[in-house]
This record gives sequence, structure tokens and C-alpha cells, in this order.
Amino acid sequence: MEKYTLIITEKPDAAQRIASALDEKGRMEKKEDNGVPYYVARRDEEIVVVPALGHLYTVAEERKGRNYYPVFNFRWVPRYAAERGAKQIRTWIQAISKLANNAEMFIDACDYDIEGSVIGYCILKYACGNKETISRRMKYSTLTQEALQKSYTELLPHLDFTLIEAGGTRHEVDWLYGVNLSRALTISARNWSGKYATLSTGRVQGPTLKFLVTREKSIRSFVPTPYWEIRAEVEIDESVFEAEYEKGKIEIKTEADAALNACKGKNGRVEKIDVKKFQQKPPVPFDLGTLQSEAYSLFGYTPRRTSFVAQRLYLEALISYPRTSSQKLPPAIDYEAILVKLSKVPKYKKLAKDLLQKSELKPREGKKKDPAHPAIYPTGKLPERDLDDSEKRILDLVVRRFMAVFGEPTKKQSIKACININEHRFYLRGRQTLKEGWQRFYGPYVRSEEILLPPIDEGQTIKVKQVVLEDKFTKPPSRYNPGSLLKKMEETEIGTKATRANIIQTLYDRKYVREERMAVTNLGFDVLEVLEEYCPNVVSIKLTSTLEQRMDKIQAKREKREKVLVDAVEILRPIVQKLREKEKEIGEKLSNAIKRARLEERIIGMCPVCGTGKLMILYSRKTGKRFIGCTNYFKGKCETSFPLPQKGSVKPIGKVCRGCGWPTVQVRIKGKRPWMLCFNPDCPLKKDRSKGVEMRNLR
Ligand SMILES: [Zn+2]
Ligand SMILES: [Zn+2]
Repeated sequence: MEKYTLIITEKPDAAQRIASALDEKGRMEKKEDNGVPYYVARRDEEIVVVPALGHLYTVAEERKGRNYYPVFNFRWVPRYAAERGAKQIRTWIQAISKLANNAEMFIDACDYDIEGSVIGYCILKYACGNKETISRRMKYSTLTQEALQKSYTELLPHLDFTLIEAGGTRHEVDWLYGVNLSRALTISARNWSGKYATLSTGRVQGPTLKFLVTREKSIRSFVPTPYWEIRAEVEIDESVFEAEYEKGKIEIKTEADAALNACKGKNGRVEKIDVKKFQQKPPVPFDLGTLQSEAYSLFGYTPRRTSFVAQRLYLEALISYPRTSSQKLPPAIDYEAILVKLSKVPKYKKLAKDLLQKSELKPREGKKKDPAHPAIYPTGKLPERDLDDSEKRILDLVVRRFMAVFGEPTKKQSIKACININEHRFYLRGRQTLKEGWQRFYGPYVRSEEILLPPIDEGQTIKVKQVVLEDKFTKPPSRYNPGSLLKKMEETEIGTKATRANIIQTLYDRKYVREERMAVTNLGFDVLEVLEEYCPNVVSIKLTSTLEQRMDKIQAKREKREKVLVDAVEILRPIVQKLREKEKEIGEKLSNAIKRARLEERIIGMCPVCGTGKLMILYSRKTGKRFIGCTNYFKGKCETSFPLPQKGSVKPIGKVCRGCGWPTVQVRIKGKRPWMLCFNPDCPLKKDRSKGVEMRNLR
């Protein structure tokens, strides 16, 4: 084989796109080595593009084994050497090494950010044999043909070593914290109880769990206090409107009653009308965080899901690189060209054309910056396949947001009419859009409420249909959801755009939280309690964000990697030491917490027969079979029991049967859709059917 240029990408899709963009005739050739795909492109020279599979290398302990701590010595190793189930990585690295042997020039084309830079660097250094010093760098923000060709002709002469330093340090620091703290917890619990359960915490995970626990505590300790609200229903031109009482929340019942009585049976008079005109500026372009929270509130997608979908759209060259924290759209991306392409799509045609007619295209921008990429924008390219629903939605959202940032401010008018009913004042409010501006482009994603009022004049008499007194209670603060938690992490500057969504997922995986409105489980409470008692530093936001800032400084060359690492170990060493000294105490606490959590997972609900016991999933000592039994059995008070299917998993998820109101369990068998099972033999839903019919689908 002749000598060629070897280009390394982060993912297979990107490799294929780069190869076909660089091939003279746009026809790259796909090859395979041991199942590892690579692509050959021909122009004046031969180019081989080989993809990675994300990270191929990772940080690991120098001395092997998972069962000890503290661990302060580490090295970078291939992932197959450190992780279970990473076997594929071995063949992958072998294939890349082979291709590197015959290459005379190397180009790193991984995503241009912290993670991508680390991925490319490790491959060049370890798999290609120290080629990181001679490698060049491709930088691009979209995978369109034009962008890729341009980036190839304008290659950066070398890798971005400060970015690599910063990224490497981040992995090392996070690994040091994660491995030491998580092992301390897991090993303490295992040594005490003899049973294994993964417990984890980390530099970012700890403080994040603390946000949730703090909120949960204030919800649990919340005491609702009563208050009263008064509103008047008034009739104007045969339509009924609600006017709110001037005093808002009234805390004393007698005061509320007095106002109500005074207004009863009286008509009102319009005392004053205030009209205010105001503008709403266009939104700012999406960075990953704002896209994630917008997609959460519009479609209910978790940050992780949005991130996955956006990544797919990027790999198909439909949107620009999504893992960005920029809210800027530099003119270099060529707004006009994108809008021209969008105008070929029927549903955007009119909107894009209108924007193109403007004398100047100037986007509204936000404050946040990113040195490597602009904000997320559509490339204007048409999809090459049918997109699924979530892809369509995210793409449409990105397109409309892009157009909206070029729009005019929205002009609105608010009206506040003060109605006097027997010397008590009520406000009737209206809100109206005068000029749509950018909202036209954002279309279905605009959240604004229009309340149109009929024409009214000062001095006019208003018919009062009735005055209503409402009993209310103050409400506890609301729980975090994955979207608002992500926002909180951003505001407090912990984690990075690449890691936050995964940290939230880990909290679910470890069963520290459950449900979409994130409720902290007892296990979550207990783990945090242990951390707060024995290593309060680890859950403090301060420590985490200080480290975060120092790591950012490495990127700006204002801090040395070695110094940050040494300090991180110095902070960690006494913490881990203390955990070790208190291992027994901690082990006991955590073991009890795990035991309780496992028991709780098996409780189905109150026993409908005796009314005082709880129904639980139990295992027969004789046969090992599972069944449902009442906890009062152990007290000799209730013998209620029901059979359970022995296949698959059975889990209570807090739903009751709509036929009989009994608690139900969810049964899950691999390859089938999970179903709710009512185990009540006398359930009316079962009597409808002929005997012997399977008890299923009772949702
Ligand atoms: Zn019972
Ligand atoms: Zn039932």
C-alpha cells in the first residue's frame, strides 16, 4: 500500500462524511478491518479516515484491582483494560494502529472541544505511536461538505495542547474523586454487611445530590398556612371576565369576609384604565443548556435525550455542533446561505424569505461564549432519511430558534382596568400582541397568553355577576426536574456541558432519586447524610466550583496542570483517610440504608384484608418461589397471600387497579411490554372474562 494521510474522527458517521467530502469525485470507498470500518478518499493524495468510538482510552489505577482505596497513582490505559464489557475497543485500537503504520501524515478531526481533543490526542499518542506532536488539526462546526472541505484546506498546524491539558486534568481529577469516594462507600458497606451494592458519589454528583436533598427537606418540613383570595366575575358585552382583588393574598379570614360582604350585590365602576406598551426582544441562540431546558419544557425530553438527539442531527450534518456553550452566531456561518436553503423547505419558505428581504441580518446574541464553536444553528441541509419524531421536533426547534433571533422585537400592550366595587378595588387585566415580530418565526414554541378585553371607558358601570372567596393554602417549593436541575448546575458552575446530563442520569441509576419530579429516596438521603457527616467538603459547592474554575484556567494558560492535580490530591487525602478510619460506622449506616431501600422496593401497599399490615413481595423458604404476603403474617395476625408469576421481574410502582382499587405490581418479561397485574382474585375486571384468562393488561 502506498503512503497516505490518516484522519482520525470521533465517530463513524463523521468519518464517512469527511471521506466523501474530501474525495475528488465525492465517492469514498468503505473498507473494514476486523469489523472496524474505515474510509478511503482519493484526490491528489490518498486519504484514509478512521473513526474512534468516543473515548478509547481512560484513566485507571496503576495497581490493578477494584477493591482498595485510597488510589492516587493513575495512568491512561486502553478502555478494555479498565472496564468490563469494553472488549470491542481492543480490535478497534489494533485496526487504528495498523492503519497508522503506513501513514505519513496525521490529522486529528475529532470534535473540537475538550472531550474530542482528549480522544484524538490519546489515539495519536498511544495507538499511532507518539504522533501527537506532528499531527495537524481539522476544526469545523458542521459536517456539511463545504465546511469540511474548507477545514481541510485550512488545517491548523498542530493540536490544541492547552485544551488537551485542561481535558486530561478534568478526567484525572474527576477520576480521583470518583474512584476514591465511591470505593470508600461501596467497600465500607460491603465489609460491614458482606453484600455488594454499588454506591457512588463524585466531585459533581455530591453537590448535585445535595441540591435535591435540600429542596426535599424544605418540602417535607413545609407547613401550609391558609390564606384567602377574592375575585370578582364581571360581565362586559355579554362576556364574563375575572378581576382580581387589590389585596392579593389575605391572611385574616374576617378581613376577607368583610370585603366579600361589602361587595355583594353591588355593581362596579371603572375608575382608571392603564395602558402600557412594551417590547419583547427576540430570544438568544441556543447553546446546549438552553436547548436542553427548552426541549424539556416543550416536549418533556430529559437533558440526556436532547443531547443524544442533537448529536444525531449533527452527525447527519443537519445542525451545527451541539456541545457548545456559545450563544453567539458569527457572520462567518453565512446567515443568508442558510436561510436560502431553509426557504426550499415548504414550511419555512415564507418565513425564510421574509428574513432574506431585510436590509440587514443581525442576530440577537446572548452573553455566553465558547472558544471552539458558535451557538447551535441549522445547516439548512435536507434530511437524507425519514427522521423520527424526536429528531423532527429538535430540528424544527433549532430551525425556528435560528430564524427567531433575526426577528424584530415583539410589541405588546397590557391593560389594567381598576374597577371600584363599593370602595373595594379589583383589577381587570388584558394582554395583547400588537406586532408579532420574532414570535412569528418561533411559532408553536411561543408561550404567551393573550387576554383580549372589550373596549371599556373610565367611568363606565360594570355589571358584577358574583364575588367569590377562595380558601387557599400556601404551597411548598416544587421539586426539581431534570431540566431545572441542569439549570441549577449551570448557574452554580458545576460540571460541564458534556457531563451534566450523565450525572443526573447516574442519580437515577443509583436509585438516589426517582420519578420525573425528582423525589429523593431514603437511600439518597442516607448517602448524603453520611457524606455530610464524614466529608462535608465533598458535597460543598464551593470546593467543586473552585476546582472547576482552576481547570478552566488551565485552558487559558493561567494555571498548571501539575499544580491542580497535586492540590486535588492534597484535598482528597485527608478526606479519604477519615472515611477509612470511620469505615465501620459508615458501613453500618450505608448497609442499613441499602437494606431498607431493598425492603421498600418490595412493599406493594396496605393489605386490603386486615387493613393494618403491608403487602410485600416475599420468597418462600421452602421452594424459593415468590409470592405476595402480608407483613402481619409474621405477627400471626393475617394469612393473606397471593401467587405471583415466577418469570421476569415484579415491581410495585404505586399504581392502583382501576377495577378494584387494590395496589398492583408491574411485571416485566424480556421481549414483552411490561404490564400491570392486579392480584385480587375477586377483581370485577377479571369476572368479566372467562375463567383461566391471563391476568394482564389491566392498565
Ligand atoms: Zn393483612
Ligand atoms: Zn383489580
